[in-house]
Formats: sequence, structure tokens, C-alpha cells
Amino acid sequence: MNTRLMSVKKALASAGAFFYCVILTTPLQFPPMEKEVDVTKVIKQHLEMEQSFSGFALKGKTGATEPQQQQDNHVPSEAEAMADAQKSAELEKIAEEVHQCRKCGLGSLRTNAVPGEGNPNARIMFVGEGPGADEDAQGRPFVGRAGQLLDKVIKACGLKRSDVFIGNILKCRPPENRDPRADEIINCIPYLQRQIEIINPEIIVALGAHAAKTLLNTTKPIGQLRGQFHEYYAGLGRPPIKLMATYHTAYLLRNYSQENRRKVWEDMKKVLTELGLPIPKHSTG
Ligand code: URA
Repeated sequence: MNTRLMSVKKALASAGAFFYCVILTTPLQFPPMEKEVDVTKVIKQHLEMEQSFSGFALKGKTGATEPQQQQDNHVPSEAEAMADAQKSAELEKIAEEVHQCRKCGLGSLRTNAVPGEGNPNARIMFVGEGPGADEDAQGRPFVGRAGQLLDKVIKACGLKRSDVFIGNILKCRPPENRDPRADEIINCIPYLQRQIEIINPEIIVALGAHAAKTLLNTTKPIGQLRGQFHEYYAGLGRPPIKLMATYHTAYLLRNYSQENRRKVWEDMKKVLTELGLPIPKHSTG
């Protein structure tokens, strides 16, 4: 451990924030494009992240706000159980195909493909850009720092990760987290389209420019797309699915201003309102 890291660790320990030591002793994943890592900045962000997207959780503990989505005690009928099993099997089949996929060069560079995961009956589906280093290592979406922030956002909405489905435009990591290339998207997008078709969410939340532009087939910048509902065309004979575009959590980590956090929270409040879910009270710090 270098001296900079040790001094930060000491400072935190003396402040009584012992739990942040865990962060210092586990490998950190940094957002793409960040060359020099400022450990103090990362820790400060983490502290802010804890405060800004988890205020509501304290309420949850007092019973004021509980996760809303799958909390009902509905016992599925035999037909519903069969439909659920079929959905899970179809998603499993796609995951299997993704694991075997060699349609583009990324297939030979990956450690693990990342098909996506979550609730087959999710009302909300989050779609990111593509796996980063942590996701590639674990084969699971959004498990690095951007994923931890996404978890906070989900929690701030009064939901659990297991309530939603989380996927990506690309199923394999581009080298050095570079932007997805058009040929890679063209080869990979049918997997996501099939996942969307099976899950049939009420709302897709597109995280960042690549997800929003790809799913909406537009070149408009994310700044113009975010904050409003768009329509994702789910195919002939199927009604369009509402799509909310918002900032990617990796972008949010790189541009961790109160203004950007507020914007993401505003976007998520629109999603909750559209779904008829209560909006937990919390502050974006
Ligand atoms: N960023 C993404 O776009 N997807 C992930 O799964 C993780 C980080």
C-alpha cells in the first residue's frame, strides 16, 4: 500500500469511519478514461454517494418506506408459474448463446461474457453500455464502482436489485473500456432485443449516451435525450416500451456534482411516477 493510501486510511480511521477501510483494502475499479487516480477524491465521492442515494434507506429501516415492487404476497397460479419458468428458460438460453458467442473480435478478448441478470418479470430494465473490468472478471453486469452507484440509485427508488433486470448493449468488454464500435453493436444488439422481448418491461432506463442512442436509433446527445420519456420500438405488432434516458453512473462518478445527481434523481422520480410507485423521500446531497 503506498503512503498516500495509508495516510488517507489513517485519517478515515481517526474520523471513526472504519468501514471505509474495506474500500481501501479491496481493489478499486475506476471509471474509464481516468488516468491518474486521486484516492481522496474517490473516497470523498464514496462518502457523498452513501449520503446522496441512501438517505431514504434510513426511512426504510423505520418502516416508512419499503421496497415496493415485488413485495406483494401474490401466490402465482399454475399458469403463471409455467409462464415464469418458460421466461427464465428463454433468458437462460440467450445467456448460453452469449457465452458461446464469437460474432465479433470481443469474443476472443473477454474473460467472461456478461449476458445480464435480474428479474424475468421486471417492470424496469436498466441498460448500460458494456462490461468493464470487474464485470468481465465476474461475468455479472454493474458490479464495479458504477454498479455500486447504480445499486444506490435502485435502493433510493425503494427497490431491490432483484426487482429489476440489468443488461448492456454489448455483452463483452471492449479493450481499455473504449466506446462500442458500430459492428460490435450490430452483432450484439439482437441478444438485448430478445431479452427485452421476453421480459417486456414497462420502462427501460437507458444509462448513458451509448444505450440511449442505440435503443432510440438516434444521434442526439444524452443531454438532450435525458429527462423525458421516449419510445423503444419493440417490433412489429408489439406496443412500444417507454424509455427514460439518464446519465450513466460511470459518467456521474466522473462528474460528481450535486446538479448531475439531482438530474438523475429527477429522471428516476419520473420513472417511479409513471409506474405508480411512491417516491421515497431523500436528498441528492
Ligand atoms: N458499465 C456498463 O455500461 N455496464 C456494466 O455492466 C458496467 C459498467
